[in-house]
Amino acid sequence: MSKLIYREPNGNWGVKGVSWAEIPDGLYGALYKLKDYEETGISPAQVRTLTDDGSLVVWTREDKEHNVWRCTGCGALHRFETDGPEENGFNCCPYCGKIIEGTDEEDVLDEEADET
Ligand SMILES: [Zn+2]
Repeated sequence: MSKLIYREPNGNWGVKGVSWAEIPDGLYGALYKLKDYEETGISPAQVRTLTDDGSLVVWTREDKEHNVWRCTGCGALHRFETDGPEENGFNCCPYCGKIIEGTDEEDVLDEEADET
């Protein structure tokens, strides 16, 4: 994501491609916050991990028959039509927002072990 704010060596800053004369006074505060945010150099996803305790969560399959999974972070239950969180594109828990570190499908592994 490219930055919208530029900064000159003397400390002056502005919005790329827009002169201050074109910007309504009421937007200055919002642009100042945008400048501060962009200068942190981190993405919104990274900010999200910083605002909680930074821990990652694991999703475990609670009910194999109905394919219901539980977030170890917030305890929310979620049912998938097929497969698990990874196969369905869940990078983070939609209930608590924490990043899903991995999944635990112990019962599936047991099932595969039985087949051998
Ligand atoms: Zn969660």
